[in-house]
Amino acid sequence: MVLRKAREVFGRGAVEAPPPRTSEGEAAALCHTYEDLGLGFFWSTDGEGRVTYLSPGAQTLLTEGADATGQNFLEMFLRTGGESEGERTLPFAFARKGRFEKITVRSERGEDETLWWSISGEPVIVRGEFAGFRGHCEDITGERRSAEESSHMAMHDALTGLLNRRRMSQLLERTLTFCSSQRSPCAIMLIDLDRFKQVNDTLGHAAGDALLKQVAARLVRVVGDKEKVSRLGGDEFQVIMPGIDDRGVLGDIATSIITSISQPYTIDGSRCLIGASVGVAVSPFDGDDSDSLVRNADLALYAAKGSGRGRFRFFSADLLKAAADRRLLEEDLHDALQKDELEIHYQPVVRAEDNHVVGVEALVRWNHPEHGPVSPARFIPIAEESNLIKGIGEWVLRRACAEAVAWPGGLRVAVNVSPVQFGDDGFPALVASALANSGLDPELLELEITESVFLQEGGATNDRFKALKGLGVRLALDDFGTGYSSLGYLKTAPFDKIKIDQSFVRGATEAGSRNRAIIAAIVALAQALEMDTTAEGVESFDQFDLMKSLNVTLVQGYIYSKPIPNDEFVKKLNEGNWIIEPSGPAFQRHDRQAMFRRIGVIHDNHYYPVVLRNLSVSGALIEGLVDVPIGSEFVIDLGEGQLAVAKVRRSRKRQQGLEFEQALVPDGNGGLCTRHRASPYQLAAAGLPQSPKGDGIQPVGPHLIGGGEDGKASMPAFAMASDWKGAALRADVA
Ligand code: C2E
Ligand code: MG
Ligand code: MG
Repeated sequence: MVLRKAREVFGRGAVEAPPPRTSEGEAAALCHTYEDLGLGFFWSTDGEGRVTYLSPGAQTLLTEGADATGQNFLEMFLRTGGESEGERTLPFAFARKGRFEKITVRSERGEDETLWWSISGEPVIVRGEFAGFRGHCEDITGERRSAEESSHMAMHDALTGLLNRRRMSQLLERTLTFCSSQRSPCAIMLIDLDRFKQVNDTLGHAAGDALLKQVAARLVRVVGDKEKVSRLGGDEFQVIMPGIDDRGVLGDIATSIITSISQPYTIDGSRCLIGASVGVAVSPFDGDDSDSLVRNADLALYAAKGSGRGRFRFFSADLLKAAADRRLLEEDLHDALQKDELEIHYQPVVRAEDNHVVGVEALVRWNHPEHGPVSPARFIPIAEESNLIKGIGEWVLRRACAEAVAWPGGLRVAVNVSPVQFGDDGFPALVASALANSGLDPELLELEITESVFLQEGGATNDRFKALKGLGVRLALDDFGTGYSSLGYLKTAPFDKIKIDQSFVRGATEAGSRNRAIIAAIVALAQALEMDTTAEGVESFDQFDLMKSLNVTLVQGYIYSKPIPNDEFVKKLNEGNWIIEPSGPAFQRHDRQAMFRRIGVIHDNHYYPVVLRNLSVSGALIEGLVDVPIGSEFVIDLGEGQLAVAKVRRSRKRQQGLEFEQALVPDGNGGLCTRHRASPYQLAAAGLPQSPKGDGIQPVGPHLIGGGEDGKASMPAFAMASDWKGAALRADVA
């Protein structure tokens, strides 16, 4: 029996009546050994493709040991669904009745095991007729798995299991090619963790690795598809989102990513907090190849980090300019101290109950010789990154102490401390020295610290607090409501005051806001712990009344006073017991941003340059056209392909109030943007003249775009205001 089979198998199929190649007994023995060693198996079928022989070893794998004789050979293997070419070619080879070699196919074993096979065969011809196949097959599952593993390793990040940088850049390249052929957009997000380095440095690399794994899992959960997320290296991640250009949707996703990553982590029993910043770029608007798209997302990420971290930012062309400006500003900041360009302004902190000034906050100002005053919100982050913050911080501290000593009436002065300064081991000694040199009573110095110093519980931070309290100074928790806003810190850290951030105060007057309840809770807790509460940035009476009704004790904001220079401040103090009456608008309109920006509007076939005076989610006020009837429709060109359809709702002389057809969305930086943008090819198709930079419509005019209905030039429907030239000039200055 075996002998017959062996002859069948080893026989040269296409040749009739194969002669024995060796003695029959020897051939049979060799076949047995070959099968037993599992080196390979033999098979044969009849003319209908039914099994006539299958090596016992192969039967174990393919039919769980059952006799395969009579089964359809092809049906023992998977026919479709794999990436294997062989699943299509094996049936084809059978149909062709020709010789085939090493076709790769799969079979299933049990519930979820896949086996891989390499199959070769030759037709058997009996009396000139096709009589079946004889062949050889091999189980190649082992080789296959290790190949898969090494290709998985080549494509994935070993730590997190996400795609790696190399794979992501291939994927992005491919996706962009596909998207551009479909004329569909593709967004990418770059995500960078805030303060990851500190966790790594303080808790160790193993903890850092554990943290990155948790971050990866959270990211995948938000994005919903592991194959779209990669770790580029270090604490940088990238997400690719084909088909999305809606900046409302992208902003929501970025916010979910930031919120999710900013929740506390538990690693080896210790708790730690990090944050995340996100930069977003969308093709084809922000670049149509992977290099430019990634570079621009990176620029947006950098801007997000620069504007306070924990934020997202969309790329826009002015970021390129901002990056250049920032480099120049950094150069100038190096000499700002020596050149005596810094000064301190003081903003009164007022007891809301009787309008008594009880203290001040020292706010540094930079008078730049060319650019004029530069906001600390702009230059402090630059100083923090370029190591200039220690010098600037020390100067502010010493100067504020020295000026405060000279004030009558023992007013308390609050000085902002950057987390970089706070983290410096020499900081308590510096404070001691500033106090000793100036002779200021430590009770009158308050240090304002933000939540970001609480990276991890215990350790260095607690020691720092103890050292500072030991000097007798007061500590305030600044910007509460912008970071993690965990009341947990308040129980352990020895704060004397909580400052509720202006964004939180502002939000509290909005309908349905939870901020009120949170502020009420903070105040109750502060009272129990004998801490003061200050509401920051109070501008209007609705905010003021709300803060008073919530029992916030101190108020600092424009409703009492803006920050003022020291000499002005001293003059007021010398006038006696200082009381300020609150004054300001009844309500805060936060939905409308005042501005002076040159934009364009399109009506019929004409493009008119106008000035944008204010902008809200739902509408805009424009200036520059006269006699525009109510109900007229415009397309507003906000630049960079941002076109918004709007209707004139109010029209007074040279100003028109417009309502957008589709609401604008937040741009992540306190501004607004359109959800969608018109791509360069859409602009071209509409006959709109494009800016040479390729970032929108060329803003010159009023001019005719496209042609009139009959292809001839038409007259503009509206006239420009007669003093328009002046307005345009002012717009250039703004
Ligand atoms: P901050 O410590 O939260 O200071 C309060 C900011 O709110 C100040 O902005 C102040 O001018 C502004 N402000 C006060 N009341 C109102 C109001 O009613 N409405 C509005 N819209 N704003 C109000 P400023 O002076 O631009 O400072 C910005 C930030 O820069 C400060 O925020 C602080 O974080 C930082 N900073 C300022 N001076 C220093 C400093 O000497 N050292 C450090 N490390 N940071 C500083
Ligand atoms: Mg402050
Ligand atoms: Mg603050």
